[in-house]
Amino acid sequence: MLQKTSQFMREANFIGGEWVKADSGATIDVTNPATGLKIGTVPKSGKAETRRAIEAAETAFHSWKKTSVLERHKLLRKLHDAIMDNQQSLAELLTMEQGKSLTEAKGEIAISAAYVLWFAEEGRRAYGDVVPSPWADRRILVTKEPTGVVAAITPWNFPSSMLSRKLAPALAAGCTTVVKPASQTPYSGLAWGALCEEVGFPKGVVNIVTGSAGEIGDEICANPLVKKITFTGSTEVGKMLMAKAAATVKKVSMELGGNAPFLVFDDADVDRAVEGAMVAKYRNSGQTCVCTNRFFVQAGVYDAFVEKLAEASRKLKVGPGLEDGTQQGPLIDGKAVEKVEEFVSDATAKGGRVVTGGKRHALGGSFFEPTVIADAKPDMMFMKEEIFGPIAPVFKFETEEEAVRLANDTEFGLACYFYTGNLARAFRVMEGLKYGMVGVNEGLITTVEAPFGGVKESGIGREGGHQGIEDYLDTKYVCIGGL
Ligand code: ADP
Repeated sequence: MLQKTSQFMREANFIGGEWVKADSGATIDVTNPATGLKIGTVPKSGKAETRRAIEAAETAFHSWKKTSVLERHKLLRKLHDAIMDNQQSLAELLTMEQGKSLTEAKGEIAISAAYVLWFAEEGRRAYGDVVPSPWADRRILVTKEPTGVVAAITPWNFPSSMLSRKLAPALAAGCTTVVKPASQTPYSGLAWGALCEEVGFPKGVVNIVTGSAGEIGDEICANPLVKKITFTGSTEVGKMLMAKAAATVKKVSMELGGNAPFLVFDDADVDRAVEGAMVAKYRNSGQTCVCTNRFFVQAGVYDAFVEKLAEASRKLKVGPGLEDGTQQGPLIDGKAVEKVEEFVSDATAKGGRVVTGGKRHALGGSFFEPTVIADAKPDMMFMKEEIFGPIAPVFKFETEEEAVRLANDTEFGLACYFYTGNLARAFRVMEGLKYGMVGVNEGLITTVEAPFGGVKESGIGREGGHQGIEDYLDTKYVCIGGL
């Protein structure tokens, strides 16, 4: 077993302010994807533990919702400071369980803290309305109230920041929470419990349960005390949660899969486009829902783009995340590697040309070479499916209309990117792309100030921006008569 490097590493559930084991005592092993070695264990909990966490959140809600917005603001600011004071240690824990480079992990922790600060501020601006009344003797008020107990289910690719943008607005709004982190990366989620405890959040405001996704998810969906589910993960699981949550008409926010296109037009600055492509493709080793899944490049700059992208991809330093200079960590597990291998063999069988990479990395384990595949065609798997790995398929197109049509030919609609030097085209294409987020001559667009989220089957709701707190507030209309 590895040495426990972080003071925030917890191997227990956090329920009603207590650190507790699963009822059965059963545990799940957590491994380091860079070494394959066990880091530790977390409780394998089920329905009973989840029910208790929900009840603790419900009890805490009665007093938490009555705290002043300024009190919540101050606690969230303390939480922000605690995260930043411990950035290095939290980032090491994150790299150890998730695999990403320490530089990226430190960035993720900083973004987590930034969401906390942002929503601490937005909580103070959750204004209602006073509406001009059509009646002389009545007045109309519209107020905002916290929704209630919120359940947050989070994925393994950004185990800290995906939780932050749910937890922070929920707490700022006056909601209490039950969190289920992904079983591959539970420690960054549990660390939020340790941090909230340290800065003095009341018991039961934040509860965290690890274990069986199916059992915990079923209890969350069925329990009428839960008023909202916020989920980041696969479209498949998101749809299932929405269907189950319908039984008690819960509010839902869904951040689901993507299939991001990246368009490069003949009039683009190709060097800038390659720079943007490197971030949009290889961040977190390609394991983000906004990572480019399909590059579409116009015929005039196709060869130059492919060559430059391949050259930059070859230079990426692959290695364990904790090693100095690493730019690409391992994939999350062996299954993920098998899946990217399937994308490569499907593409080569259908005429795709591997320009660089294309196979497991010499380091072994779940390391994979940064890969560029030219001559991509619409019948290849990556036209429809999310790659979630370091493979860059490049399609060639002739006309703007063709590029926009191909880019939109997917049930997903999360992020997209395009590069052009022509202003009129920039507007045409921006308006033509059916996506929730568009990067124009930019490959990295996520920031706490802007609304993150998708259209079509990529999800419902927005996280970040001033929109990000709305999902945790209910609107109440009050009519005051007899005046
Ligand atoms: P990914 O493919 O990124 O792992 P998943 O949708 O499988 O995406 O996982 C995202 C989160 O959803 C994780 O915390 C996972 O444990 C959880 N999850 C998976 N299956 C279910 C389920 N049936 N009910 C509730 N949560 C689930």
